[in-house]
Amino acid sequence: MTLDRPRVLILGGTTEGYALADALAADGRWDPVSSLAGRTANPRPPAGAMRVGGFGGSDGLARWLRDEGIAAVIDATHPFASRMGWNAATACAAVSVPLLRLERPRWTPGPGDAWSLVADWDQAVAALRQMRAQRVLLAVGRQEVAPFAALPDVWMLIRSVQAPDPMPAFAHAEVLLARGPFSLDSEMGLLRTRAIDTIVCKNSGGATDAKLAAARALGVRVVMRDRPVRPDTATVASVDEATGWLERLG
Ligand code: NAP
Repeated sequence: MTLDRPRVLILGGTTEGYALADALAADGRWDPVSSLAGRTANPRPPAGAMRVGGFGGSDGLARWLRDEGIAAVIDATHPFASRMGWNAATACAAVSVPLLRLERPRWTPGPGDAWSLVADWDQAVAALRQMRAQRVLLAVGRQEVAPFAALPDVWMLIRSVQAPDPMPAFAHAEVLLARGPFSLDSEMGLLRTRAIDTIVCKNSGGATDAKLAAARALGVRVVMRDRPVRPDTATVASVDEATGWLERLG
């Protein structure tokens, strides 16, 4: 542990978490420690220190913050990793450690987009039924495909980095293993060759997304899951703003 520089806990597992760790390590005024949930085997090590695995709820996190002498926490977890956000808010309040949320902006629909907004996958299944979707690109993450097996008349193209395991009993489905980012050309090609009429995905946000641009260009519908509710934490959208917040803490 470095005693002269404030230790900053980065709740990571995201591009933003890695970028923040890079920036703080390069800056040198802070001592960053990144925390990863441990879902990925052999994750890329972030700059600075790293720890892996859950803390044991908000009580465990509060204890860890105190024991490790953490001066500030930046929650840079994925927009859909909301439990960690609630735990961080409770733990930081309990031990009076300042907390900031670093979150990429949402995608928003523009002219030419045909989006249906849903709050969960049950609503997404209902929306697909109602719009009589026939051929669907499911880009929801391999652990979240099961609710869509309830649509036996729909052909599903399940795109994920690793195959669903176990694979739910889909009536008609193809698994396409692929890791983004994807180009607009390849997304247009995929939507055309598989004759996709609807994309289902979640509003992860960030850089312009090629599948959404391709959907707009080809008139393909999008069923978009909105982000879960998070605690009311001070929030910034960039690494520079996060560094500015740390500077103001003194
Ligand atoms: P979650 O539902 O918010 O968290 C579930 C539990 O996992 C938490 O209660 C915590 O366990 C542990 N955890 C989560 N993030 C952690 C972190 N950075 N460090 C240590 N423990 C963590 O999260 P999730 O949706 O399962 O996502 C897990 C991780 O994968 C997150 O760090 C997130 O940034 C990353 N990720 C998630 C998604 C997504 O779509 N959900 C996408 C890309 C990356 P304890 O209660 O034991 O502390």
